[in-house]
Amino acid sequence: MTDRPNRRPVFLDHHSTTPVDPRVFEAMRPYFLQAYGNPHSADHAYGWEAERAVEQARRAVAALTGARPAEIVFTSGATESNNLALRGAAAELPEGRRHIVTSAIEHPCVVAVTEHLEAQGFAVTRVRPEPNGVIDPARVEAALRPETGLVSLIAANHEIGTVQPLEAIGALTRPRGIVFHTDAAQAAGKVPLDVEAAGLDLVSLSAHKLYGPKGIGALYVRRRPGFSIAPLILGGGQEKGLRSGTLPTPLVVGFGAAAAIARAERDTEAARLGGLRDRLVARLTASGLAFAINGSLDRRLPQNLDIRFGEIAAIDLLQLLKDDIAISAGSACASATLAPSATLLAIGLNEAQALASVRIGLGRFTTEAEIDLAAAALIAAVRRFDVPSPFSHNSATPA
Ligand SMILES: *Cc1c(COP(=O)(O)O)cnc(C)c1O
Repeated sequence: MTDRPNRRPVFLDHHSTTPVDPRVFEAMRPYFLQAYGNPHSADHAYGWEAERAVEQARRAVAALTGARPAEIVFTSGATESNNLALRGAAAELPEGRRHIVTSAIEHPCVVAVTEHLEAQGFAVTRVRPEPNGVIDPARVEAALRPETGLVSLIAANHEIGTVQPLEAIGALTRPRGIVFHTDAAQAAGKVPLDVEAAGLDLVSLSAHKLYGPKGIGALYVRRRPGFSIAPLILGGGQEKGLRSGTLPTPLVVGFGAAAAIARAERDTEAARLGGLRDRLVARLTASGLAFAINGSLDRRLPQNLDIRFGEIAAIDLLQLLKDDIAISAGSACASATLAPSATLLAIGLNEAQALASVRIGLGRFTTEAEIDLAAAALIAAVRRFDVPSPFSHNSATPA
C-alpha cells in the first residue's frame, strides 16, 4: 500500500520465529566447516572439540533458567520437548496419580499430547484463564485432586503473550509431590524464569524463539530422588538415555550463544521493545480508530500486542497489509485453519472477535522507523473498511 518498491514487509511476527542473531550465526560457522566431529566420538580430537562446544552450550542454556547443566537434555525443539516432558512423565506416574491439570491456553503441541494421554486413560482438567489471559493460581488449586500427578502450564502465551504466575503455582505443586512442567518457548530469555523459584521439574525451550537456529531445543529435567521420565527415542543412549541420536553440534552451539546473549541483554531488550510496543499503541490511539487489546497489557511479554479493530476479519486486514508488514492472524501453528483461536475463546472473546484479532510480535532488530511504518500501514488499512458496529457481520469489505 505504501510506496516501498523492492522492500520486504516489516517482520513483526516474532512469536512464530525469530531471525538468527548474526553473533549466533558466527558462533555456529566453524562447527559446520572445521570442527565437524561427532561430539560423542570419545577417541580423537575432533570428537573432543565438538564435545567441549556442546558442554559449553549446555552451561549457557542451563543458566538461562537457573538450572544445572546436567539437567539439560537437547531436543529438536519445544514440540519435541513438550512431547518428551508430558509423555515421558505420564509414563512414570503411579497408578493412583494419573490425573493431569493443564490450561485452556496451551500451545497446540501440548493440547495434542494431553488429548493423546486422555485417550490413553489419563484424566485431564483444563483450567480456564481469567479474561485478562492470566491463570489464577486459585483455579489451579481448585483443580488439584489427591490423584493429580502432573501440572503443565504455558509460561507465556504464544498469542496474547500473557505471563503466568508460575511461582505461585509451583508453591502448590511442590508440597504435594506433583510434577510441574512449563512450556517456556515464548518466555525464556524474555522474562525472568527460574526453575528453583518456580519449583519446576520440567521446562521446554526452543532456540528459534530466541534468535537461535530452528531445529534445536531443550528440556530441563530436574534431578531429584524418585523423579524420572521415560525417553521417547531409543538408541545410542545419548543425553543420559533420554534422547538418543547424534547431537547437531552447530545447532547446539547456536542455541548456547543465543541463550547467553538473551540472558545478558534480556532486561535492556525488554525495556526497549516495551517502549516500541507502547509507541505503536500510542499511534493507534492517536488515530482515533476503535481497537481493543486482547489480554492484560502489563502482565505480558513486552514485545507482544494482540489487537482487534471492531470485527474486521483479520485475514481481510492482512490481505491489505501483506506488502507492508508481516503479522499474523492467530498463531502460525493454527493459521492453516480458519478456526478461531482457542486462547482467544478461552479469555471470553466471541468467534467474530477472535477472527478479528491480529498478533503483533516485535523483535531484537525492530526499529522505531519500522514501528512508525507499521502503525501508518495499519491505520490506513483499517480506514479502508467501514468501521462496523459491534453487531455487524465480521467480514467487512474494504470501502
Ligand atoms: C513455537 C512454540 C512451540 C514449538 O516450538 P518448536 O521449537 O517450533 O517445536 C511450542 N510452544 C510454544 C509456546 C511456542 O511458542
